[in-house]
Amino acid sequence: MTATTTNAAATDAGRLALMLGELRLPTIARAWPDLAEVANREGWPAARFLAALLEHELADRARRRIERHLFEARLPPGKTLDSFDFTAVPMVSRAHVLALAANDGWLDAGHHILCFGPPGSGKSHLAAGLGHALVENGFRVLFTRTTDLVQRLQVARQALALEAAIAKLDKYHLLVLDDLAYVQKSQAETSVLFELIAARYERRSMLITANQPFKEWGSIFPEPAMTLAAVDRLVHHSVIFEMNVDSYRRRAANARKPKQAPPPATINATT
Ligand code: ADP
Ligand code: MG
Repeated sequence: MTATTTNAAATDAGRLALMLGELRLPTIARAWPDLAEVANREGWPAARFLAALLEHELADRARRRIERHLFEARLPPGKTLDSFDFTAVPMVSRAHVLALAANDGWLDAGHHILCFGPPGSGKSHLAAGLGHALVENGFRVLFTRTTDLVQRLQVARQALALEAAIAKLDKYHLLVLDDLAYVQKSQAETSVLFELIAARYERRSMLITANQPFKEWGSIFPEPAMTLAAVDRLVHHSVIFEMNVDSYRRRAANARKPKQAPPPATINATT
């Protein structure tokens, strides 16, 4: 290589660094020198080199987008479908949950999932695991305790911005409302939860967990007619998981206990 071509290469490299910075293409900026070397050595056509660079950029962007969406989803850490023991809830089919995680169409139609079961039956874990898998598959999810979201929406209502706050949640394909039954009486008096359910009806999905299936929901909404209307909209298109199993924690604790020998027979001393 002559001094002139070396200088020209250095100038090109400098200009590329500036231009790629300005275009915000950090992955290409990082990857191009090595790829260019391979391309030169192996005599790649220019189009192949360009395609390889763009593939790098796209793959990296997809990865960063998923990372960002995982962060904003506020999922409880560690609760994935991989760490969920499906044998503990035989009424929930793993294949069905995996189909939901791959969006077999339910998110497009705005269908819901309702998970019922006693405390510790794994509702939150299953909801978080499904949420996690959906984000990895490119969907946007927000996991929230129902009382927290209701509080946020109440604040918005006071500021006369409820509609906008609900519309902002549209960007999430799935809204997980964990522990619906824990909404307090004072919170029920404003009907923000009903407004949310009505606004998402047949458009955007929700996953709701609750200890009580419907019969105690009267205290979540300000009046019986509204409770009925809300339940009606929720169950119209929904998958219902009834997880009527014992607390997973308690079962795990029992399984850890050493097997006890039967108590020795006692001899009645008085006979
Ligand atoms: P719920 O929301 O129904 O009260 P959680 O999902 O919070 O129950 O479960 C309680 C604890 O038990 C959590 O630590 C959770 O990870 C664990 N757990 C529950 N069910 C399972 C399961 N099937 N496989 C693995 N861990 C489970
Ligand atoms: Mg829970």
